[in-house]
Amino acid sequence: MIKHIIFDADDTLFDFQKAEGNAKSRINEVLKTHALDLDTFWNRFNRVAPALFRQFADGFITIDEYRFHRFADVLEANHGKICELTSELNRIYIQEITHKIELFADAIPMFKVLGAKEIEAVILTNGPSDSQRAKFKNRGLSRFIQSIYIGEEMGFFKPNREAFEYVLRDLGAANSEVLMVGDSIEDDIHGAERAGIKAILIDRRNRYSAYTGTRIAFLSQLIELPSVGAISESRPSFETEFFLQNSVSKTQQ
Ligand SMILES: [Mg+2]
Repeated sequence: MIKHIIFDADDTLFDFQKAEGNAKSRINEVLKTHALDLDTFWNRFNRVAPALFRQFADGFITIDEYRFHRFADVLEANHGKICELTSELNRIYIQEITHKIELFADAIPMFKVLGAKEIEAVILTNGPSDSQRAKFKNRGLSRFIQSIYIGEEMGFFKPNREAFEYVLRDLGAANSEVLMVGDSIEDDIHGAERAGIKAILIDRRNRYSAYTGTRIAFLSQLIELPSVGAISESRPSFETEFFLQNSVSKTQQ
């Protein structure tokens, strides 16, 4: 029986892709004023930033070094104002992806249904501690979420099985009592499965139509899964009915 559900944060509960798109649009305006080529900039960024994040996750650089270099290393080496411009780009980027990021409309109704079923929700995220904690704090989510596990704080990042085992240990739960829900096949699904935890892919943008495991497009579908107890009930609970009537159509717009 499932007692806990572990949720990834970005692109599972929060619309990171949209927030990052907004950040990139604003950054483009700044880059244009410096006559920098946008394609060259973002091609480099997409190469440099993930490699730097890996170095951060492996403990070779700090979060501040990661944030500085993801932009500084991308700017032209001979650009006179690298430091100044880097901090401006970071200010914009962090504002959009941390403070202005939106929660998907199906998240809170789902947490309410899980609460009614006495299934505890926890978060497991690789994102930096300061920005992830700020994101959850400002959304009134603390009453729905039992714990937030962050790679930077645990010293273990997804997809390493140690990250998942840390959560199991802290919850005092067997792997059969836990489900993982996330949007990344490598980080969330394969990582959880290596730790013996069942995982459900949330594929909101239909990127993985060939995926053969359990795949949902909306969090509303999670509470319909037999493992989450929806079908074992003779009739849907009031909360489930309310959720299905009021939330699904909204989230599918
Ligand atoms: Mg994610």
